Amino acid sequence: MAEWYCFQDKVKLEEADVTLSYIVVNRFFKGLKCPKCGVQYLPEEVVMTDIQAAEQELDSK
Ligand SMILES: [Zn+2]
Repeated sequence: MAEWYCFQDKVKLEEADVTLSYIVVNRFFKGLKCPKCGVQYLPEEVVMTDIQAAEQELDSK
């Protein structure tokens, strides 16, 4: 995974479980979190794969 930095604090983001508020599924995604201010990021590749999979899961139920 590429290294990501917080725009505010200029510190390296740590891997973390990120919850998404805009998605209906109640699950965690592998994302990035700033250890300083706590802001959460989801890399685009996670959005493209994991979230699509989750949405498909939801559709099939
Ligand atoms: Zn930060």
